[in-house]
Amino acid sequence: MTIGRFAPSPTGVLHLGNLRTALASWLSARAAGGRWLIRMEDVDGPRCSPRLGELQLGDLAALGLHSDGPVLWQSGRTGAYRAALAALHGARRLYPCACTRKDLQSLASAPHAEDGLRPYPGRCRDRAWEGFDHALRLRLPEGPVAWADLVLGPQQDAPAALTGDPLLFRRDGCFAYHLAVVVDDGAQGVTEVVRGADLRPVTATQLRLQEALGLPRPAYVHLGLVTAPDGSRLGKRAGALGLAALTDRGVDTAQVLGWLGWSLGCQPTPDPCRAEDLIPAFSWDRVPGGDVSIPTDWCF
Ligand code: GLU
Repeated sequence: MTIGRFAPSPTGVLHLGNLRTALASWLSARAAGGRWLIRMEDVDGPRCSPRLGELQLGDLAALGLHSDGPVLWQSGRTGAYRAALAALHGARRLYPCACTRKDLQSLASAPHAEDGLRPYPGRCRDRAWEGFDHALRLRLPEGPVAWADLVLGPQQDAPAALTGDPLLFRRDGCFAYHLAVVVDDGAQGVTEVVRGADLRPVTATQLRLQEALGLPRPAYVHLGLVTAPDGSRLGKRAGALGLAALTDRGVDTAQVLGWLGWSLGCQPTPDPCRAEDLIPAFSWDRVPGGDVSIPTDWCF
C-alpha cells in the first residue's frame, strides 16, 4: 500500500511551492488508494514554532488535505532518534566531530540549495569515540548511489561529493534533519517521499543512512520549484506569503487548487476545483519535471 507524507518544517508560512508538494503527495496517495500522513519537522527547536505548525495545518485543511492518522511532531521523537544513534554506534558508523559551531550551523536544518551545499571534508573522521554527548557524524561508504525518481527518472550521485559525512547529532543537543527524516520515514512506513527539487542533492546521503539503519527504501519524487513569473525565487510580493495572503486578495482556495492541479498535469486549464476533483487524472507520468512560475496576477 502506498503511504505518502508531507513533512513541512514549521518555520514559516507554507508558500505555493510547499502547497504544490503537499497536493502532489496527497493526490498520489489518494489515486493509489493509500494513506497520506502529515509530519511536522520541528526537530530544529529554536527555528520552529507550534503556532506556525498549527497555521500550516490550517492551510492544508483549507485545501482539503487532512492527515490519515495523528500528525507526528518530531520534537516528541527524541527516544527514537537516540535509539538510531545507538544502533549506528553499535555498527561503528559514527564519529565525533569537533568542528566549530559556525561550520555546523548550515547543517542544522534541511539543507536547501540556496544555503550552498558544501560537503563535509572529513576532518574529524579519525577521531576516537568520546560518547554520545558530542556532535556526531555518519561515516559514509565510498562510491556512488543509484536511485530512481518517479518524475526525474534514473539518478546517480556520489554522496561524499555532495554532503560528505552527514551530521546526525549537534553539539547543542539537537538531532539533525537527515537523522530525523530517515528514522521517521522508516517508522511511519512511508513508501513514497515527495519533496522539492532543492532536496534532491541530499537524497543519496539519506539512502546511505537508510541502508546503515536497515530501513527499506521508499520511492522518491523531487518536484520542480514554484517561482515568481520571471523565474526568480518566490518573494513577499509573489507567492511566498501563502494561502491567507492570496485569499485576502480575492484568490480563493478553489482557484489555488485549480492552478496547482493544472501545474501538476491534472487538468488542461487552471479551472477552479476541489482537491478530490483532481484525483482521477493524477499520474506521475503527467507531472512536468521543471520549475513552474505563478500567474502574474498573483503578484501584489
Ligand atoms: N522538512 C523538510 C523541509 O521542509 C522536508 C523534508 C523532506 O520532505 O524530506 O524542507
